[in-house]
Amino acid sequence: MASIYSLKTFLDANPDFGFDVIEYLLSTKYTDYLIQCINEFRYPLFRIDDDPKSKVISAIKDNTLLKVPAYKHLNNTSDFNEIPLVDKQTLLYNSQHYISGDYEISDLFARNTSGTTRKPVTIYYSEKFYFEFLILTTIKISVLANVFHNACNKAFFSITISDNPNLNNRVIVDPTNTVGFMLLVKIDEQKTETIERLFHLITTFKPAILISTPNLFEIIISNLKGKMLLRNYIPLAIFSSGSVLTEDKRQKIQNFFRTKVFNCYNTTEFGFIASECKYQDGMHIDPSLVVELHCTESEERDKKDGDELVISSIRNKAMPLLRFVTGDRVTIDYTTCNCGREGLRIKGISGRDLPIFYLKDGKTFSPYVLVKLFYMFPIEEFQVIQLDYHTFEIFIQLCKGTNTSQNIDTIFKNVENYVRNTIPCDSNIIVKSIEFDYKSNFQRFITRINKSLDEQMTRNLLLL
Ligand SMILES: [Zn+2]
Repeated sequence: MASIYSLKTFLDANPDFGFDVIEYLLSTKYTDYLIQCINEFRYPLFRIDDDPKSKVISAIKDNTLLKVPAYKHLNNTSDFNEIPLVDKQTLLYNSQHYISGDYEISDLFARNTSGTTRKPVTIYYSEKFYFEFLILTTIKISVLANVFHNACNKAFFSITISDNPNLNNRVIVDPTNTVGFMLLVKIDEQKTETIERLFHLITTFKPAILISTPNLFEIIISNLKGKMLLRNYIPLAIFSSGSVLTEDKRQKIQNFFRTKVFNCYNTTEFGFIASECKYQDGMHIDPSLVVELHCTESEERDKKDGDELVISSIRNKAMPLLRFVTGDRVTIDYTTCNCGREGLRIKGISGRDLPIFYLKDGKTFSPYVLVKLFYMFPIEEFQVIQLDYHTFEIFIQLCKGTNTSQNIDTIFKNVENYVRNTIPCDSNIIVKSIEFDYKSNFQRFITRINKSLDEQMTRNLLLL
């Protein structure tokens, strides 16, 4: 699909895009493996052969997992349920203990978790797993959504839209030549030129698939210019990932793009976890994962949110995570889907909601950029609550050791100034100290304004 000639043409015409030559050359080492993965995923779909739990036990028996310091003590374990649970907090402070002695850190690929549910932690990937993550995630979702066959014929397979400040525009070339170019496009909702650039890229290259978070889609579809510019573009499918997709949001995005929106669940820790088939009756979980549900504090907790999802995977040999408590609450359907696939489906999911803050003057603000606070100040954890269109409360727990009151006052003042300068309207910022209770269902960004997108768009129109 993607020839070197067309890559050169693309890069010459779009100098704001990067292409990682070294990474591409490394990926060609795994061409056969990636093709095999694609085929296994396509035909026969979701064949459940080996029990993934027994694969974990085998990896303990053959010593592979015992090379990971955190699992050394498992040498006599033959019962999966004896493996201790690991939560995000433990991983954050002991991440190096989860790296296999078979690998040098300097040889591994690394990515930071998004920081939407807990402080960002670096996850290390083996080369093989990294390319699985980079190349196969969208392909797997498109196979399940039943659009792969048509999508792989397009010169541009996908555009992934992100507002992660650490990323840059880049083009990814599939070494197996199965699908066309995959573009990663960064937008900054405060810079209209970046959103207009996105519209230009979409209308020029007409990618088969668009991928983003529900809140970025919300920003895109509320842009009046986009409404006009994208009127002749109908993608084969939209993939929504990274945050809870409510049915209301799904309908709005579907109405705008006149195509189906598929809900997906991927994490930095595991890559692809689950996505919907064409029946959209729950997300099919990748059969190579061991999935468990834990009902922690079930007595006090409202059961409608479901149970805590715990995942194990040994696919990433460099940093295999066993019985990892994701912090997301799900309900699971065990029945066979109308599409004929067996295995588990995630029906409801909660715990990764990333709202948009609606501001006075009709402006919007996607608070994800505030995750930067972790990289700028000695912050252990924080939470931002929007109380009204211009009042924000920020609760901060500082890292241990930040103890002089003068120090604390300066940090709080600097956080206050940084947030005030980042939010694009005159705001009242209140910074408060807190000790977070990690057992509670934590959400970093909360808004008390309950505006629907339609109301907000009407409001924007009135302000024009
Ligand atoms: Zn299905």
